[in-house]
Amino acid sequence: MTKARREELERRMRIIPTEAEAADLRSRVLDFCHEAIPRTVRGLERQGTMSDGDSPAFFKALGIAGWIGRHWPREYGGREGTHLETAIIDEALGYARAPLSAYLLSVKVFGNSLMLFGTPGQKRKYLPLIAAGDAMFCQGFSEPMAGSDFGSLRTTALRAGDEYIVNGHKIWTSSAEVATHMYLAARTDPKAVKHRGISLFVLDMKTPGVTVNSFRTLGGGVLNEVFLSDVRIPAENLLGEENRGFHQAMRSLDLERSCMDRVGAARLSLDRLVEYVSSDGSDGAGKRLSDVKMVQEKIGELRTKLQVARTFGYMIARNLDAGKGLSAEFSFGKLYVGLLTQALADATVDIVGTVAQFEHGSDLAIFDGLFPAVFRASPALTLAGGSSEIQRGVIAARGLGLPK
Ligand SMILES: Cc1cc2nc3c(=O)[nH]c(=O)nc-3n(C[C@H](O)[C@H](O)[C@H](O)COP(=O)(O)OP(=O)(O)OC[C@H]3O[C@@H](n4cnc5c(N)ncnc54)[C@H](O)[C@@H]3O)c2cc1C
Repeated sequence: MTKARREELERRMRIIPTEAEAADLRSRVLDFCHEAIPRTVRGLERQGTMSDGDSPAFFKALGIAGWIGRHWPREYGGREGTHLETAIIDEALGYARAPLSAYLLSVKVFGNSLMLFGTPGQKRKYLPLIAAGDAMFCQGFSEPMAGSDFGSLRTTALRAGDEYIVNGHKIWTSSAEVATHMYLAARTDPKAVKHRGISLFVLDMKTPGVTVNSFRTLGGGVLNEVFLSDVRIPAENLLGEENRGFHQAMRSLDLERSCMDRVGAARLSLDRLVEYVSSDGSDGAGKRLSDVKMVQEKIGELRTKLQVARTFGYMIARNLDAGKGLSAEFSFGKLYVGLLTQALADATVDIVGTVAQFEHGSDLAIFDGLFPAVFRASPALTLAGGSSEIQRGVIAARGLGLPK
């Protein structure tokens, strides 16, 4: 074995915490959530599986407690931790039903992308603000005619001296109603062919010309459309290379797909389902649900799938820690956990029956209305962050080399 190879393996071994270390980190995050969520999160924000909710007060508390961006270097507000540590934190936050939308967009999507292609000055400016819980990012990629087909986006950012002037319309923009900044994709060269001529920017949401329209979702959360009318962005807010934004955005979308928060949320649902069938649940004929063979088999199958999803999540984190390039593996995790959550939500409603329909606030609700909240939020999981069809295409083309 070469020296370089041995050093690389040693480095990888060092970044894998022991089971005891992982359990300790998990329980510290859960303890934090137990105290901070009731203090900082109210009403509807609690209903979703997590990422359809936001609470600036909870985000700030996360920052003060030092749970944001621990894998970033100290000079950028991090703690020289690992992606694996952050994956464990994300899983615990998902399990706690923390409101995470802006957290995930700020850390996984914007912050991690900035680490890849931001300038040192941009990293010094934005990452410490995020880590402290003071800057919340939304992601302005999708448009009415450009979702899966990101290259079709029409928002323009035209250079005028030391500024860009932005005009366009973004849609499905999670967290825009609370965000301080947007990670924006816009067309800087309208004459270039589709995938060229796109660039990425940081937009301060308080800039004149930014209008946010919020609407409620089936999942009980909020989504937004954002209108941009003659919005002026300083040229220094360009991220990475001008007109190379398509390739950078594809890397950001990969980073968005590391989905341990969703694994944690699915684990909570499964734990509560097991708790229900083991205690209150009866099959209507006096038999406890936990004694019904079909229920046992279904739960056994879901538990196995959950373990697979978790393994994908940790594999992605380890690859990031080992400095490996991005790959189809991100799509494995995203595809799998979305389908798993839907299967789990469907099975829960089948097994628990009518009582699974009572929402948060009803006297008849069980587990604070967790089951109907997950059921209503689950259809979006195979769309947000790139649809399942797109993930399958990425795995076939990028992972297996099949023609696009
Ligand atoms: C809850 C939620 C939150 C979101 N948050 C954000 C956000 O914060 N920021 C942001 O920018 N966007 C966000 N989105 C948008 C999301 O990224 C898009 O919805 C997604 O990329 C799909 O795009 P679309 O809705 O335009 O559907 P389309 O791209 O029109 O797709 C419609 C259907 O056609 C299928 N399809 C499209 N192209 C292909 C193809 N080539 N091969 C096979 N099938 C295909 C899709 O799988 C889908 O089923 C969010 C969406 C949801 C649901």
